[in-house]
Amino acid sequence: MTLRTARWTTLAAGSAATLLIAGCGGGGGSPENAATSGEGLTVLAGFYPLEWAASRVGGDLASVSSLTPAGAEAHDLELTPQDVAAVSEADLLVYIEGFQPALDEAAESEAREAAWDAGQAASLTLTAEEDEDGHGAEDQHADEEEEHADEGEIVDPHFWLDPTRLADVGDALAERMGELDPDNAAAYAENAVALRADLEELDGEMQEALSGCAINTLVTSHDAFGYLADRYGFEVVGISGLDPSEEPSPAQMAEIAELVQERGATTVYTETLVDPAVAETVAAEAGVGTAVLDPLEGLTDESAGDDYLEVMRANLETLREGQSCA
Ligand SMILES: [Zn+2]
Repeated sequence: MTLRTARWTTLAAGSAATLLIAGCGGGGGSPENAATSGEGLTVLAGFYPLEWAASRVGGDLASVSSLTPAGAEAHDLELTPQDVAAVSEADLLVYIEGFQPALDEAAESEAREAAWDAGQAASLTLTAEEDEDGHGAEDQHADEEEEHADEGEIVDPHFWLDPTRLADVGDALAERMGELDPDNAAAYAENAVALRADLEELDGEMQEALSGCAINTLVTSHDAFGYLADRYGFEVVGISGLDPSEEPSPAQMAEIAELVQERGATTVYTETLVDPAVAETVAAEAGVGTAVLDPLEGLTDESAGDDYLEVMRANLETLREGQSCA
């Protein structure tokens, strides 16, 4: 994987230790599972956007479920013993290496050949600087840090907020499903074409609606919108880092509030699955409003739509207003 440093701002990175990429691969299990004919593929996805994409590509030929329960925050995923057993039995585990540490472990020890890293297909090009404020928690990861050459940088996993990257993942997923279930390879490929068409239509709407925005700076609760910003020409300021559990200090929050004023931003974005208190404090300090921008890490009853496409279109309306787009 080639990493390029993005022109992309992370003011408050917090402790990044939890996001360290664990496990450099290996595993080497036996690839005994293929689709058992007639029953279809059993696919497990790490969290919602991967579940949605896999469902679209699998259609009625695959049984797809998500390991992150509805309404739970995806970054913090913990696996029950039943989950671990399910991972070991799945035909395909769709996950993003480095995004959900519990799943990285299960991918290596349980899923083995069935594990499929969507991040590879999405070509994750954005990275963030690791924070240097020296929390004690970093010590226990010292060994892992030494193993990885990209010291001080962590990869941004949030590719699904750029619809074109999710379309790429859909294509690659169809190819992988076709390898596991060759009789139905053509059907998976066809489903991926339909998925791509929907995502490219969404992308076209976003390009058009977001091309003339008066406000360029996107101030978000956690740093989830780097790929969206990269695609549609915004610059992201994440109040928390790449992981929503990284809480900024009062000094960092004051710094962001100042930046909000400097850049003329009028909206600070909160999320459905993260406590809005920190973002609301920054907004109040800067004297601006808040609106919900959904990073789609999970759906809840409060989500502004029933699937990826609906929530992204709701996000588009929120952005048009919040960024003062013509
Ligand atoms: Zn996130």
